[in-house]
Amino acid sequence: MRTTAIIIGAGHAGLAMSRCLTDHAIDHVVFEQSEVANSWKTERWDSLQLLTPNWMSRLPGYGYEGDDPDGYRTMPETIAFLERYAALSAAPVQTHTTVTSVRRCDAGYAVATDQGNWCCRAVVLASGACNIASVPAFAEAVPSTVATLTAMQYRNPSQLEEGGVLVVGASASGTQIADEIHRSGRPVTLSVGEHVRAPRVYRGRDIQWWMDVAGIFDTRYDEIENLARARRLPSIQLLGSAARRTLDLNALTDIGVTLIGRFAGIRDGQAQFSGSLHNMCTLADLKMDRLLDTIDAWADTHGLDHEVDPPHRFDPTRVEVSPPLGIDLRSGAIRTILWATGYRPDYSWLDVPVLDPRGCVRHDGGVVASPGMYIIGLPVLRCRRSTFIDGASNDAHYLSAHLASYLDNGRSMWGRACQGLSNSDRVVDWHSDRRVCYADPLM
Ligand SMILES: Cc1cc2nc3c(=O)[nH]c(=O)nc-3n(C[C@H](O)[C@H](O)[C@H](O)COP(=O)(O)OP(=O)(O)OC[C@H]3O[C@@H](n4cnc5c(N)ncnc54)[C@H](O)[C@@H]3O)c2cc1C
Repeated sequence: MRTTAIIIGAGHAGLAMSRCLTDHAIDHVVFEQSEVANSWKTERWDSLQLLTPNWMSRLPGYGYEGDDPDGYRTMPETIAFLERYAALSAAPVQTHTTVTSVRRCDAGYAVATDQGNWCCRAVVLASGACNIASVPAFAEAVPSTVATLTAMQYRNPSQLEEGGVLVVGASASGTQIADEIHRSGRPVTLSVGEHVRAPRVYRGRDIQWWMDVAGIFDTRYDEIENLARARRLPSIQLLGSAARRTLDLNALTDIGVTLIGRFAGIRDGQAQFSGSLHNMCTLADLKMDRLLDTIDAWADTHGLDHEVDPPHRFDPTRVEVSPPLGIDLRSGAIRTILWATGYRPDYSWLDVPVLDPRGCVRHDGGVVASPGMYIIGLPVLRCRRSTFIDGASNDAHYLSAHLASYLDNGRSMWGRACQGLSNSDRVVDWHSDRRVCYADPLM
């Protein structure tokens, strides 16, 4: 079977790209191994609410339609949102079709699926950045008496035995899960490495609102000094809740969660932790203050000072001066270890030599180093906003225009990212007039 373009994955990124290809009248198919919004249906915990406010989900031709723009979607709401988008866009999704191989061929790409083989001129990888839980290799040394699971496997506290839980990782997933498990009556120890701290609300407005209006989300990938690091930055410690609660390490300490350093290894059943807890927390506090300084400067420059609450700073993170450096995993104090140590993509089906030594696809702002191949849905793909649902609109507009131009020209545009595109096709710089030029507020 033949089509012009194939999109792999029907999450928000694949659907956004499909909508834009339809607008360009490009014949295409979207292959989805399960159903639309599969990752939100099968890989998230029950209580999760998006950490981005409802208004922050602008997809091509679609956005939030309800009466609570500042609320945070639950999982059923997120799934319904994406299913409605797929239906309204009449996206040509073939569900329950797993792509098992993508290879180059004379016509472009040969795409094998468990439902048949296809040939196309262009391929869009929209298979997600979070397909596999990243767990350190030393996890194998956890004694068999301690249960282990990942954030992708966690659904709710009733899954866990009674008794102590070690949650490893203090980014958005780890802090939210630690909070929920501790409130269920199971004492939680949280292992803290590098993290990004921010208040949910600052000067009366959601922190994401500030980052949006101040143009922080619009920093382009080619303007970021250490792009590799920006793409690996842990998610911000944020929680979506009706109370707009801040969930930082102090909030967790207040309810009785114990903080400990970075999990460094296991020896003879002893979990070993780094002594860097204090430094990690000091660094996160400093970076948060830098972010708030950036916001204050922007509010001042744009005459907002009288419309919002006055600036303020938050208490430094409270940590024990000498937290324990070890826990005996055979003592019974820890019954479960929950790895919230990040996620990585799965490209085991990609038979085109575009992976770097870390297993990531080599691309220039979503234009992959193979003619007619594109990728969408990765952190900081074209700008910081790309990390979120909200970034897919801009990215899909740009990449679909690039793909259309590639089909017209019939040649590779790799390395010449904007050549052949009109100005209106270039990435929309929504807030270029508002962009801040201070020290990078997130790194
Ligand atoms: C815990 C968590 C919380 C998050 N919270 C937020 C938030 O609050 N706000 C926000 O904006 N973003 C959030 N994100 C980030 C981001 O929006 C999600 O990762 C999002 O799911 C990415 O969308 P996607 O379309 O790129 O990928 P996915 O939603 O993962 O979609 C990829 C699709 O591809 C399919 N697929 C994969 N491989 C194949 C194959 N070989 N063949 C066929 N189909 C395949 C999958 O089944 C899946 O449906 C969160 C991410 C995580 C992990």
